[in-house]
Amino acid sequence: MRQDIIGYRNTPQTDVSRVATAAGLAILETIRCRQATCAGGQAMAIDRTIWTEAFAAEQFPTFPCPRCNRGRVAFDKTSLVTEEPKYSDLLHQEDGWEPNYTVERFSVRLRCPEQTCGEIVIVSGNTAWIETVDEEYGWGFTSVLRPTMMFPSPPIIPLPKDTPSEVEEKMRSAFGLFWFDLGSSANSLRMSVEFLLDHLKVPRTSMSKKTGKLVELTLNNRIQYYEKSNPGHGETFSALRMIGNLGSHEASLTREALLDAFEIYEDALSEIIGGRSAYLDAIKKKIIASKGKY
Ligand SMILES: [Zn+2]
Repeated sequence: MRQDIIGYRNTPQTDVSRVATAAGLAILETIRCRQATCAGGQAMAIDRTIWTEAFAAEQFPTFPCPRCNRGRVAFDKTSLVTEEPKYSDLLHQEDGWEPNYTVERFSVRLRCPEQTCGEIVIVSGNTAWIETVDEEYGWGFTSVLRPTMMFPSPPIIPLPKDTPSEVEEKMRSAFGLFWFDLGSSANSLRMSVEFLLDHLKVPRTSMSKKTGKLVELTLNNRIQYYEKSNPGHGETFSALRMIGNLGSHEASLTREALLDAFEIYEDALSEIIGGRSAYLDAIKKKIIASKGKY
């Protein structure tokens, strides 16, 4: 499969070239997932094949519905609109023009199939051209859709029912910004952790022993404070803090690292807010006490 999409050129539009590379890999992942046993049976909570940078229109995945948490919003191909601006169209006449120099914008709707929901997600962005090779037709170009906005944004991780509103608000921002700016998405995730620590009664300030004045605690200080009385989640929070810090230097933050951060945060939220262990312990006790007869 890896040979199917090859040969990305260094064009004057280096940005497009970079996108095309990522888009090619994204499609590779999708093809691999559908044709073989997905992800080799790894225990991953987030389906990495759908949170990629670009998609072929025919392979646009379904996403979790942002409203009902039951359905998955699906590509409505009748709503797809793609248009090339005049300045890009004029370039076709220039010497040395290649299809991957084309600039195009697109918009499309995703719809939730649940009868009582029917949520509509508006997706918009650019198209990018990737160079492909086909056994039958040889070299060619394929256009892919590269979303820069999805509204309302599909949740990358589920949020427990009792998630504090400030935590949820920052996570919804992180889901939306994910498509436009990975760094800002990471920053929103980090702010969500700050609000989660507020909810857990971790102070934001402390009295300085030297000056007797109140000083602001850093996120690192607050994590250490929490870890002292609640060991177990310190590592998760520290990892999220680091990803959040990287978010300020977007060039060094990868999509993979950010998805890793969402994944471990999902685990922490389901434990801290959702009470997953306590819930599972109660089920175990119930089965043992009744010998499963209920
Ligand atoms: Zn829905």
